[in-house]
Amino acid sequence: MPTETDKLALDNLNFDNRFIRELPGDPEPDNFRRQVYNACYSWAPPTPAKQPRLLAYAREVAEDLELSAETCESADFCQVFAGSRLAKGMEAYAMCYGGHQFGQWAGQLGDGRAINLGEVVNSRGQHYALQLKGAGLTPYSRSADGLAVLRSSVREFLCSEAMHHLGVPTTRALSVMLTGKQVVRDMFYDGNPQIEAGAVVCRVAPSFIRFGNFQIFTARDDLDSLKKLVDYTIRTDFPALGEPSIPVYLSWFEEVCRKTAEMIVHWQRVGFVHGVMNTDNMSILGLTIDYGPYGWLENYDPDWTPNTTDAQGRRYRFGNQPKIAYWNLVQLANALYPLIKRAESLQQALLAYTETFDKGWQAMMAAKLGLLAFEPAEDDALVNELLQLLQAAETDMSLFYRQLADIDLSQESDAVRQFLAMLQQTSYEPLSDEVIERATIWFETYQTRSQRDSRPQPERRAAMNAVNPKYVLRNYLAQLAIDQAEQGDFSLVRDLLDLLRHPYAEQADKESFAAKRPDWAKQRAGCSMLSCSS
Ligand code: AMP
Ligand code: MG
Repeated sequence: MPTETDKLALDNLNFDNRFIRELPGDPEPDNFRRQVYNACYSWAPPTPAKQPRLLAYAREVAEDLELSAETCESADFCQVFAGSRLAKGMEAYAMCYGGHQFGQWAGQLGDGRAINLGEVVNSRGQHYALQLKGAGLTPYSRSADGLAVLRSSVREFLCSEAMHHLGVPTTRALSVMLTGKQVVRDMFYDGNPQIEAGAVVCRVAPSFIRFGNFQIFTARDDLDSLKKLVDYTIRTDFPALGEPSIPVYLSWFEEVCRKTAEMIVHWQRVGFVHGVMNTDNMSILGLTIDYGPYGWLENYDPDWTPNTTDAQGRRYRFGNQPKIAYWNLVQLANALYPLIKRAESLQQALLAYTETFDKGWQAMMAAKLGLLAFEPAEDDALVNELLQLLQAAETDMSLFYRQLADIDLSQESDAVRQFLAMLQQTSYEPLSDEVIERATIWFETYQTRSQRDSRPQPERRAAMNAVNPKYVLRNYLAQLAIDQAEQGDFSLVRDLLDLLRHPYAEQADKESFAAKRPDWAKQRAGCSMLSCSS
């Protein structure tokens, strides 16, 4: 049982629940599935956990919330963040939103298994919204159960923190708890339901508002609520833009376009594939949100999608993410149109996406290659050929860029030999003669191009290592941690969290975590194939 001092720590958090205070709520106090109109949220108390148990927590997120390690290891922390007790100041609600799923308007979706607990303000005045994922039914649960299982919760917990430490904008994760409940899931929707362990992640972000929160009001012709939500978002999350007005709506939308573009550039840099870029999974702050059937590129393949539900159309494949983000922004523009009524201005604002993405992508590719700047006349061809080569050779993306930094380009004669050996070592298949020939030509072009920058090797290497991570959450590593956690051993989850705190550093004793995908993982469920069932 929680002691009184434990309780005090969480009851002393300072809450300022702006979202529910300032926006229209659903008057219905009871928690049952329904369509909710003219409201941004509905009340939704978490379902108490049966036997809550701490699986892991992120101390950096706890520090943001000014929670001590002692508090995070207390019984009360476990109760509160598994959904069994609301601390003082917490108010539990689920948000109403809609969305386009796989390109089709899907109507009302909403927080079907996310329950917001309110917004903590720390002593520096920073606001953090807290949200439990998997803590039971809400009015938006549709035909599902409101729960989440261990494997998907560990994946969300680890990946949000890994992305943060990689420098990718993301929602964060404070904790992952086992609930002691059993949850039935048919992982591949193929008539094989299994019993899995229930779990709850506590997510943390300045705001959880998605594109779909705006879309739902426009779809229902509820312009009054749309305006309230837009004005609220600008005032709380984009205060520098000034008081809401039509020109401010436009500059706000433009800013959302820029932030989204920056996020996608980061995804392409680290080899992250979201897997379900529906408009309800797009944060208005340009944060990576809703970690479901995501994956990390191993062999570089722009056509790869980790999501088996997406296997047919491959809409959410790695190479398509920049286009889909744009498509999603067009849907957001459509949702804002009734408020702005200037189609051309919205079109114009969308250009901010294309421009930010194109410039950002070029700068990112130059940085990955250790070049001082991207010079389109030459570098377009250089980069395109490299990406084709990596695809043809089935080269591990993370290992390749990391090891490219180690090759001293001034070693005229030996550098090509070193490069070819490295390419073979980081590839999943033996290099064909054709690949070897193309790789030789590519490398010599790259060598000449790089030498023009006259960058000393140690500087080039350090600059490349600052953008090319050594450690990412390889699909099979997450799966190994899950396998062990399902057996009651949480140490690998915690070790991976620790490893991924410093993704760009050489960690001498952790080399094995930077290894190529082992053969057993190539076709294993959870490693290369994932579904929305979570
Ligand atoms: P996702 O594809 O995970 O982003 O989810 C799409 C919609 O389905 C969202 O409205 C989720 O809240 C809802 N959803 C997903 N899984 C569940 C679940 N187990 N219980 C209730 N709602 C869910
Ligand atoms: Mg979602």
